[in-house]
Amino acid sequence: MKNLWNDINLRVFTSNLLGQSDELVLHGGGNTSVKIYVDGEEILFVKGSGWDLVSIKAEGFAPVKMKTLLEMAKLESLSDTDMVSGQKEAMIDKSAPNPSVEAILHALIPFKVVDHTHADAVVTISNSVNGEEHIQNLYPDFLIVPYVMPGFILAKTIYEMTIDFDWSKCKGIILHNHGIFTFDDDAKRSYDKMIKAVSVAEEFLHQNAKVDFRALHVTSKVDVEELKSLVETIKGHEIALHVNQSSLALNYAEQEDLSSFATRGVLTPEHIIRTKRVPLIVENDDLESSLSQFVAEYKSYFDEFKKDEIMLNPAPNYAIIKGFGVVAFGKNEKEASIINDIVEHTMLAILRADKLGGYQGISLKDCFEMEYWELEQAKLKKR
Ligand SMILES: [Zn+2]
Repeated sequence: MKNLWNDINLRVFTSNLLGQSDELVLHGGGNTSVKIYVDGEEILFVKGSGWDLVSIKAEGFAPVKMKTLLEMAKLESLSDTDMVSGQKEAMIDKSAPNPSVEAILHALIPFKVVDHTHADAVVTISNSVNGEEHIQNLYPDFLIVPYVMPGFILAKTIYEMTIDFDWSKCKGIILHNHGIFTFDDDAKRSYDKMIKAVSVAEEFLHQNAKVDFRALHVTSKVDVEELKSLVETIKGHEIALHVNQSSLALNYAEQEDLSSFATRGVLTPEHIIRTKRVPLIVENDDLESSLSQFVAEYKSYFDEFKKDEIMLNPAPNYAIIKGFGVVAFGKNEKEASIINDIVEHTMLAILRADKLGGYQGISLKDCFEMEYWELEQAKLKKR
């Protein structure tokens, strides 16, 4: 009797489940994998770039030889571009998409099924001033990793941290300022562990970081059409706006001293590609001067950290407008709505982290490295 049990279909199913919760992953965030023997060789099927967990299918997983991935982890150094091309060569199906940049990390975890999300609750706590202490207390059985750049450097860090490591006692991994991993030899158990671990963080926030909203009305007379045309001039192309005047957006935009309140960085590093590090802040009627200040500050941030990169367009990708709410600028409506979704999750996280003593994201230098990462730029071009 032929056994028709299919590991990849089960992997697809729990990936889609994870993708359905926007408190776990948003728009292409997170990644999953399963290790399967094909013709006697162990292969890592890992989320391919360009796929979303919510809608990924079997063909969205890149099949990469485990042997190659584990050899890569031992290298002293490796550029992310060389990592991707080496992994592409080690794929048993060349027509599959490029593997996720976290493929080596997935390979290093000695369990069949690996799940990675950017769970809001976990990164909210991690991005608070006492985040390290809280995470340590909430996740005593987890491997806790300080922030490093995703890609080879992160894989290398985990490789070194786990050389003499008892994985059987490890319930998961927390990547500070980034996200969480769970794993198991069983897809359902790995998913269950993710839900359970994130629920711990949610319960902690429920107890310690309750946010109350005031009933607010729009008071600003800002001319959004004027804002649109000013931003279009800097971007050099037409844009679509997404206006958000939800209770969350209005309360967020009503905070004191917005230029320091709302400019404390992103929730998880890859968001920076969509949103930039900070929004345009509008606290008065002078849109032109607010925008020129944004552009000047963006240029000085670029000049401070650039090596040989070419500067991205210095226009903002969203605005926080006092008395009005949030406006996202996308090249089309879809992109504007994606940016709005990310900003919604970020706003709530910042308000909650402030209840824990203050929000504190990754450093400007780390932001720059992410924003100007060769692989992220390539991904954006592909979209
Ligand atoms: Zn991630």
